[in-house]
Parts: sequence; structure tokens; C-alpha cells
Amino acid sequence: MAVEIGELRSLLDGRWAGIRDEVRAQIEASPLLRPAHGLPVEEHRARVMEQARMVSQTRSARLFFPREYGGEGDMGAALTAFQTIALVDLSLLVKIGVQYGLFGGVIRRLGTKRHHERYLRAAMTMELPGCFAMTETGHGSDVQSIRTIATYEPEHQEFVIHTPDDDARKDYIGNVARDGRLAAVFAQLITGGARRGVHVLLVPVRDERGQPCPNVRIEDCGHKGGLNGVDNGRLWFDQVHVPREALLDRFGSVAPDGTYCSPIANETRRFFTMLGTLVSGRVSVAGAALSAAKLALAIAIHYGSTRRQFRAPGRDEEVILLDYLQHQRRLLPALATTYALHFAQEALVVSLHDAGDGDSPDEPVSRPSRPGTVRKPSRRAVKPAAAPAIFPSTG
Ligand SMILES: Cc1cc2nc3c(=O)[nH]c(=O)nc-3n(C[C@H](O)[C@H](O)[C@H](O)COP(=O)(O)OP(=O)(O)OC[C@H]3O[C@@H](n4cnc5c(N)ncnc54)[C@H](O)[C@@H]3O)c2cc1C
Repeated sequence: MAVEIGELRSLLDGRWAGIRDEVRAQIEASPLLRPAHGLPVEEHRARVMEQARMVSQTRSARLFFPREYGGEGDMGAALTAFQTIALVDLSLLVKIGVQYGLFGGVIRRLGTKRHHERYLRAAMTMELPGCFAMTETGHGSDVQSIRTIATYEPEHQEFVIHTPDDDARKDYIGNVARDGRLAAVFAQLITGGARRGVHVLLVPVRDERGQPCPNVRIEDCGHKGGLNGVDNGRLWFDQVHVPREALLDRFGSVAPDGTYCSPIANETRRFFTMLGTLVSGRVSVAGAALSAAKLALAIAIHYGSTRRQFRAPGRDEEVILLDYLQHQRRLLPALATTYALHFAQEALVVSLHDAGDGDSPDEPVSRPSRPGTVRKPSRRAVKPAAAPAIFPSTG
């Protein structure tokens, strides 16, 4: 049966075909976006940062961010663009995934209007390279058990961020070793002597000159088994002071006197609501893995359909590799699985998009009248924050 290539392509490109075409055209037109193999680690990192800055000037970056802050707020198109960029270099994908999906994403989803006004535009343009510091050496999958501490001091209206020991250092954090300036740090919040569970605070890790901030220790994870264009690093905090406003307080806020308040009374529910912000990251990693599989299969199948080896009995011509059953058994089930996963991924992106991820983030969140109680969302306008500044005072 003959396949109509145009129809198959439009079926595969799906709902966000336009952005796929746009990104493919950018890749084709730009020598910087061509894969470069075998670069030394530092050269690879510099190239990927240059590529990321280039992407930050395109629609692919804007799609991740809300319209109020210069973006286009289209999560389906953002994830599709991201998946297409994976065709360049998976290091580039992780670099922009950390910047837009994780760093920008956690500010958008867990922060409130003052954080959005201060940081989202700078995150989108890469003027403010950021990190998403969740994982610790001792705890990766089990985020609820991380041990970095953020203790509130009402007398100074500051949080003190501290790494109690090496097991609690932040580990394998993208953008830390070279480029990151501000980190979204996951820590156990303590106010009034009580533990409030895992919360996220914005902590400057490098100054404008690229030097580590006072009491912040940075270590490079160095050469890795792959993704060497990403500057993964480790972080230690030695009683680092940040202002009260550094807490991303959509789901848990601290009043100047230290009173803790959350629209979600149950700590475990609150934790999983916060972690729900990682869903789009997980979907995008699946999409990127799929792009890598497609690229590998396209190369292998194209090569297998042109390369010849051995003459069949009674024939002059050598046999094409793909005519060998062994070769077919290796590649064709993988090709069929990849088609199936492609449509499953598209369905996942459609449902995430239609669920409203990427919409305006500044809807007021319900605040309980008493700590631990829940009331209906209020429509009261939020007072605009002061003029945006990139580096918050570290107190
Ligand atoms: C290239 C790279 C970049 C990264 N960038 C970042 C970043 O920017 N920010 C950040 O915060 N982190 C980052 N990480 C860390 C990453 O998030 C963690 O590696 C990940 O969460 C897993 O944690 P872990 O490595 O401690 O593995 P562990 O939690 O020790 O898990 C190891 C394995 O144990 C098994 N396991 C664990 N728990 C369970 C369970 N409940 N059920 C069944 N099996 C289980 C699984 O096989 C799992 O794969 C990065 C990691 C890499 C490799």
C-alpha cells in the first residue's frame, strides 16, 4: 500500500504543526544549531549557552511564558517546540528545559504576582539564568525528605537557608556550575519553631560578575556520561539570608511576624500540589526521548535501506540490509513502538494544554481566614510590586 507522505506528515505533526515547521526552519537556517560532536566540556557548554540565548530570542521561549510578561502562554505549542529542539542536541534541550520549564515554571506556578513581575520576563530572555535546586545527594526521588532548611527570623523578616551536611547539598543541578545566577531552592520551611514542609525560595547564587554569592559554595559536577553541554553542579548554603519575599508563596505564605498560612491545610496534599508543577517537565522529557528515538531510527533505517552486503545465491546484486529478517526484527518493532508513543505523547500534550497549564498565573489564590482553614477564592486585585530588579537583596 502506497503511503501519502504529505498526509502522513500532517497526521504526525498534529495540532501544533506550525511551531514544528518554525523550529525545523530555524534549525535548517542556523549553523549554530547544527550538532557538534566531540567538543571539550567547556567548549560544549559555551556553545549550548550560545544556542540557548539564540532560542531565547525566538517564539519557542515565549510560548512557555504568560502573555502579561511578554510571552504567549501556549503550553501545547511550548512542549511541541521543545520536543523539536531536541533534534539539535539533548544538552540544549536540558539547558532550556531548566531555564524555562523548571526555573521559569516554578516561579510561574508557585510564585505570586510580585515574583512574576520581578523575574518572569528576565527568565524568558535569559537575562537572568536560573537553576532549579531540588535534588540533594541524599534524596532525589524522595523530595519530601530533603534536608536543606529555611528558617524564618521575624526580627529581621528574613529566611536563613542552610545545608546541614554533605548529604543535604544540592546535587546535579543544571546551570549551577557555570551560568546560573538565581536558584529556586527546595527546602524544609520552619516558622515559629514548627516545620511546615517543603517550600521553594529564590536564592541568589552568583553576583553580576559571575562570582559565588557570600556563604554559597559551588562545585562543578564535571564531565558526565552524556549531556556535557549542561553545567551541572553542587550547592551548599552556609546560613544564607534572603528576604521574606524570596518565598514562592502561592501555596504557603509567612506573615512578617512568622505566622504561617496556606490555602491547603493538609501538609502532604500541599506538597503534592506543589510537586504537580513538575508534570509538564515530565511530559517534555518523554517528548525529548521520543525525538531522540525518531532521529536514531531515521538514521538507522535510512542507512539499512541503502547499505548492501553479500550476494544472494544466483543474483549479481548485493542484498540491502533491510531485506535481512534479522535487521527488520531489530528496527521495525522499534519503529512501530515509536509511532505508537508519538500519538500517546500528542494525546498527553493535548490534555495538559487543555487542562489550562500555561494560562495566566496571576489569578488570586484563596487565602484561609485562619491558618490551616480553606476559603473560596477571592477576586480581590493584587497590589503591583515595586519596579523589577534582577538580584534581590540577600540581607
Ligand atoms: C543530567 C542530569 C540533570 C539533572 N538536573 C537537575 C536539576 O536541574 N535540578 C534538580 O533538582 N535535579 C536534577 N537532577 C537530579 C535528578 O532530578 C535526580 O537524579 C532524580 O530525581 C533521581 O534522584 P536520584 O538520582 O537521587 O535517584 P534515587 O532517588 O536514588 O533513585 C535511583 C533509582 O532507585 C529506584 N527508586 C527510587 N525510588 C523508587 C520508588 N519509590 N519506587 C521504585 N523504584 C525507586 C529507581 O530505580 C530509581 O531510578 C539531574 C540529574 C541528571 C542526571
